[in-house]
Amino acid sequence: MGIQVPFVDLKTQYQSIKTEVNKEILSVIESCAFVKGPAVKKFEQDFASYCNAKYCVGVGNGSDALYLAMRAMDIGAGDEVITTPNTFIATSESISQTGAKVVLVDINPQTYNIDVNKIEEKITSKTKALLPVHLFGQPADMDPILAIAKKHNLLVIEDCAQAHGATYKSKRVGSFGDAACFSFYPGKNLGAYGDAGAVVTNDEKLAEKVAMISDHGSLQKYVHQMEGVNSRLDSVQAAVLNVKLKYIDQWNASRLKNAHTYNELLKDVAGVITPYELEGTKPVYHLYVIQVENREELGKKLSEKGIGNGIHYPFSLHQMPAYEYLGLKQGSYPVAEEFSQKIISLPMYPELTESMIEYVCETIQSSI
Ligand SMILES: *Cc1c(COP(=O)(O)O)cnc(C)c1O
Repeated sequence: MGIQVPFVDLKTQYQSIKTEVNKEILSVIESCAFVKGPAVKKFEQDFASYCNAKYCVGVGNGSDALYLAMRAMDIGAGDEVITTPNTFIATSESISQTGAKVVLVDINPQTYNIDVNKIEEKITSKTKALLPVHLFGQPADMDPILAIAKKHNLLVIEDCAQAHGATYKSKRVGSFGDAACFSFYPGKNLGAYGDAGAVVTNDEKLAEKVAMISDHGSLQKYVHQMEGVNSRLDSVQAAVLNVKLKYIDQWNASRLKNAHTYNELLKDVAGVITPYELEGTKPVYHLYVIQVENREELGKKLSEKGIGNGIHYPFSLHQMPAYEYLGLKQGSYPVAEEFSQKIISLPMYPELTESMIEYVCETIQSSI
């Protein structure tokens, strides 16, 4: 029996920051400033500057960040928002939640992100925004996306839930669109110890409106400009994030190194397609995803050898019951459909060791 390689490992990371993080959590509890306290303000300032953006509004989770950003842009019934079928459902769910229609564009076979050459054919007079996702920590091709948005007068919302700190032409994701939405779900590259999220923007009015909608439509207690929701960043989570923000670059660098070790060890294994990196980008490998012909078989063998694995995601959005109402047939998005049948995600986190990666790759080589 070989070593065990879990798919994710949050415990090892916690051990490395335990003293610091426990101290910060306790200090929030002792101050009793549980909601919108100083820890939240500090995080909002520091995370905005981390993203090279002017404003950051902490919210309850990444899904709400997307919903709140679009509501603050007055996106709603009668509008269309363009995104990709290869994403977690939160991306499209948040579009529907505003009342707008989800419009899907197939993915690029190399980057797995939205195919920039297929966006324009889906633009109609109702299109209000483009919602690219930096999936698996790989930046979407932002220059052409911004050019299309400019040409057609569309808003751009970046889904950065899997890409904290990734760079495109030396600039961090989150600084390109009219707004960018982050999730700090515990398993994300920058993860809290519960649910948390944020909207980042350079637009002062938009930031103010997101803050207002996220707090019952008010900026001043009991004075409500409109109906909003309750989706605020919790101070305990902000305290955790304040500690972790100091280490995110170091952790992302380890993920990148681990991905490159995988690439090197898998490059001569016939039948394995390793991730492609778009020129000028520095991905942060939230997930390390390969393509193989028989992923069920490989997944089973990896599990038997104590190696965690997963599928992100087994179906394209339009293939699931939730989107039957869109009436999009099998074959509408051939690239995303084929991709979803061949992918398998391997263990990926900063604390993975070289011998663990070697063990995973040896197991793949002997199983394929
Ligand atoms: C995690 C995730 C979200 C949603 O974030 P939550 O904090 O879980 O609500 C949105 N989009 C993508 C691509 C995600 O991976």
